Amino acid sequence: MRTTQPPVDFEGGAYSGDGVHVNSGFMDGLDVASAKVKATEYLAEHANGVTKVNYRLRDWLVSRQRFWGCPIPIVYCDTHGMVPVPEEQLPIVAPDDVTMDKSGQSPLATHEGFRNTTCPVCGEPARREADTMDTFTDSSWYYLRFADPFTPGQAFDPVEAAKWMPVDQYIGGIEHAILHLLYARFYLKALVDIGMAPGLPREPFRRLFTQGMIRLDGTKMSKSKGNQIAPEKYYDTVGADGLRLFHLFAGPPADDVDWTDQTEEIIEGCARFLDRVYRLSEYDEVNFHDAVDDADVGVRRALHRAIAAVTESYERWSYNIGVAELMQLFNTVSKAARGEHGIERTTLDEAIDTIVKLLAPMAPHVTAEIWESRFPDLASVHLQSWPVADPELVKQDSVTMVVQINGKVRARLQIDPTTSEAGAEALALADPIIIGALAGVSVQRVVARPPRLVNIIV
Ligand SMILES: [Zn+2]
Repeated sequence: MRTTQPPVDFEGGAYSGDGVHVNSGFMDGLDVASAKVKATEYLAEHANGVTKVNYRLRDWLVSRQRFWGCPIPIVYCDTHGMVPVPEEQLPIVAPDDVTMDKSGQSPLATHEGFRNTTCPVCGEPARREADTMDTFTDSSWYYLRFADPFTPGQAFDPVEAAKWMPVDQYIGGIEHAILHLLYARFYLKALVDIGMAPGLPREPFRRLFTQGMIRLDGTKMSKSKGNQIAPEKYYDTVGADGLRLFHLFAGPPADDVDWTDQTEEIIEGCARFLDRVYRLSEYDEVNFHDAVDDADVGVRRALHRAIAAVTESYERWSYNIGVAELMQLFNTVSKAARGEHGIERTTLDEAIDTIVKLLAPMAPHVTAEIWESRFPDLASVHLQSWPVADPELVKQDSVTMVVQINGKVRARLQIDPTTSEAGAEALALADPIIIGALAGVSVQRVVARPPRLVNIIV
């Protein structure tokens, strides 16, 4: 028997989380992972067991009775049995004049022109294999062919593949993670092992991102269920960019999104935002003043903070936050430009051009159009360099840090945004309110997340 110490605030029945072992003999003081290692060592030492990795590998039957797949290059001869199709006759291309019926068998099986062939060994009449390969057999190595799709005579060019691999970023639904990505990893390891992929890494993908789904009435939209919302109708009403912006704005890209009654409003809101950017780019209702003043510097500060924030949200895949930052920035700029006080011309131009660049990956059509009308002689916005935030304008003098005791807010401090964890902890513990609140209790732990939060656990 082994027992782990539950956390102090644990309530309820049996504790099954990680923790330090107690009353567990030789495992005392260890966490779960270390205790497992120790227990296995103990068994090995006492000749009761050995460490072994179980791969649970099974044979994989790749033939499918389907039309949609690569034909298996095998011919059946009465004399020679199963004969592989010689390399110079590859690939076997499936015919496109098949008849789909309800028999359930592959239409290749009944296509006489495809089925009837000759034996590569004796030249006598023979039958072609009608089964096709499981599509996983192709999706397990296509990334190698993508590295150089033009090389004839071989599956992929190992030199080009070695140059491009591994794939930096894989994006796919969660359904890929279990089978396809496992097979793809297995294939590459096997290709490296048999010498077909010299110089390649044994892992094909560096990072995986699994995107969420749009759900309708609580279920996944799918063709087979017929519960889809076709995007085409929005091309005429809000435009592809409006719809695209909605998808990015609707939530973190890893999360599922429910299509609800409010969805149409959000889509229209996104389209309206793009319209407003367009109108501001044409100086619609803008008041200009001559010299740069403090208000203009304020606009530039907001602009450069947004450059930093939007760039970071792109890098973190937080597109919804990026869109929200851009909308907020736009409101600041628009308010300044259309207010009585107005805005200085170069300040507004910098703001508009930067917003257009930051928005370009999310709304490629409308930003290209705005850019072209502003700079007919320049290359497209999509060929411009990414805006860089001026650190002097981004710098904030102070930020509010919340100090909590056991998760309850007790104090708010104005601190330097560059304060370290140790510094934040020291400032929190030195605050008079906190000193008072901690009188007579002992601090268990301090979690410092500067510059925003310090949580003291007692
Ligand atoms: Zn034969």
